[in-house]
Amino acid sequence: MKKLLKYFFTICLFTTITAAFTANTMAGETQAVAATATVSTPAFYIYLYDNIDPELVRKIIPMLKEALFDMEFVIVPEKLEVPESAWVEVRKKYYAGDILKQLAAIKPENAIAVVGILDVDIFVGRHPYVKGLSNPAIGTSVVSVKRLREYASEYRFKLRLAKEILHELGHLLGQEHCQYPRHCVMGYSTTLAQLDAKSRFFCPYHKEQILKELKDRGLSPQKHKLPELPPVNTAEKDKVKNRDNEKAESSSRETAETTLDFIVD
Ligand SMILES: [Zn+2]
Ligand SMILES: [Zn+2]
Repeated sequence: MKKLLKYFFTICLFTTITAAFTANTMAGETQAVAATATVSTPAFYIYLYDNIDPELVRKIIPMLKEALFDMEFVIVPEKLEVPESAWVEVRKKYYAGDILKQLAAIKPENAIAVVGILDVDIFVGRHPYVKGLSNPAIGTSVVSVKRLREYASEYRFKLRLAKEILHELGHLLGQEHCQYPRHCVMGYSTTLAQLDAKSRFFCPYHKEQILKELKDRGLSPQKHKLPELPPVNTAEKDKVKNRDNEKAESSSRETAETTLDFIVD
């Protein structure tokens, strides 16, 4: 376990250094993007890739704000392209880790966190498809809508996308998977059925933890009504933690650097 932690730390450090280096080399590009999109207050930034419809994302912003204390969200108008360097011919998919690094390189200074939305299949480690992936060490997430449209009405599709974004932002705000999966957007979901079944809101526990995290970062959320906390079931919580640890241990180098959610089909 000790060895694993050391390995995990080294990878995080490596990722951070790489991101910092790339950010320097891409400083000009960063300014170009930020010029039309930056707001003065701290905000969550959403970057759209290729054919993602900005209108679709605009429609789900109210759901994101409702769950996240009415914090500011910015949809960056300039589209991004999935970097060709992320294409892995043998898998016929894009490597998600490279996309997280691309986003870190253009992250605006006042970004609380950054999420990129794209419409291609992405992967990490041995998992065939990834619907959402975060790297808290560099403050970026990526969500693929490619599989989210399956068997879904327009409304269900939007709901799935909102849940995925909120779940990944939860990870970027330091949260782990929830012990009440159906009642919290931090519930771990490997299938679309599990994604559909879980709430689009944070449970009272995660709501409080996120509020605390935002305040620790010097932010003052507008709406922060906190309902009563349910009793914390420590045994269940340990079970979730152990399960996550086992997954991390059995994963490859790429999976060790990130928090994962994926569709296994
Ligand atoms: Zn929760
Ligand atoms: Zn997760």
